[in-house]
Amino acid sequence: MLTKVIAQSNIDHFTKWFDRADKIVIVSHVSPDGDAMGSSLGLYHFLDSQDKTVNVIMPNAFPDFLKWMPGSKEVLIYERYKEFADKLISEADIICCLDFNDLKRIDSMADAVQNSPARKVLIDHHLNPGDFCKIVISHPNISSTSELIFRLICRMGYFSDISYECAQCIYTGMMTDTGGFTFNSNSQEIYFIISELLSKGIDKDDIYRRVFNTYSESRLRLMGHVLTTMKVYNDYNAALLTLTNNEQSQFDYIKGDSEGFVNIPLSIKNVCFSAFLREDTEKQMIKISLRSVGTFPCNQLAAEFFNGGGHLNASGGEFFGTMEEAVAVFEKAIEKYKPQLLAK
Ligand code: 5GP
Ligand code: MN
Repeated sequence: MLTKVIAQSNIDHFTKWFDRADKIVIVSHVSPDGDAMGSSLGLYHFLDSQDKTVNVIMPNAFPDFLKWMPGSKEVLIYERYKEFADKLISEADIICCLDFNDLKRIDSMADAVQNSPARKVLIDHHLNPGDFCKIVISHPNISSTSELIFRLICRMGYFSDISYECAQCIYTGMMTDTGGFTFNSNSQEIYFIISELLSKGIDKDDIYRRVFNTYSESRLRLMGHVLTTMKVYNDYNAALLTLTNNEQSQFDYIKGDSEGFVNIPLSIKNVCFSAFLREDTEKQMIKISLRSVGTFPCNQLAAEFFNGGGHLNASGGEFFGTMEEAVAVFEKAIEKYKPQLLAK
């Protein structure tokens, strides 16, 4: 049995909306990851099975390694079909906002969602949820939004309606947001849920391979290059990876190729904080990804130095300037946080 994580009042409130709604729109964050896609498509399959009219809208494209996910072909990319998506958003009875805590995280979709008269529900696990939804199901202690979707469906009494496809999506989100159950994954209930998903026929080993072992040769070569230029700050228990535009061209970089790189330095003994800085030509900024192990608060550092945020052990931000300047800010940040970095 699962603990009742989601408040009964939220379950009741959502059930009331759900019973009356027909048109439901699901939205998630920019650069959708496994959990954004897993939670959105998991909920999509469930709502579809209840004969609702459901549309999943993402701000921009999702990576290739998630294209196998059942339902991914139905996902509408906002930046490609803005007009149609705006219409769906404005005419929806309910908008489900999944896996983000702030309208900023859905980029150019924010206005349409904010201005829609639809009822809005937030289902998320990031700290500090914003005030843009009437129902707020926010649980930072839960390791993925996909897990929350499983809990929500079960608490509404529909476990038996979870299909094989729905279970595959939920599992994918739970797996990716915990790095294949290697962090944020000590809760016993995660494994109870996995066993329930297995009862729906999912092949968890196959899902792992589809997500983690389908990379291109150029990604592996890029990884080799990025690791060669890695800087390890032994006096700070920290490490830094960078990727410039030039390097991206040199290695035929495509979106998603550097996914997960930021975690690699954490496999070095004593390194408890890792950063990955990538030039983003499209947005003319440097995207910052931060990871830590243990109690080091990379979200605090992200907020203070990179106008970002996120979770204690996985956060990110943005930097407007050159790579050299971004590296200098990173070095300033680890200097300031040196006591916490060494307090292990
Ligand atoms: P990633 O490194 O995978 O891009 O992001 C990890 C986590 O950091 C995300 O799940 C999100 O919580 C947070 N994050 C990433 N980028 C940003 C950002 O620009 N602003 C904020 N507030 N959080 C971010
Ligand atoms: Mn997530």
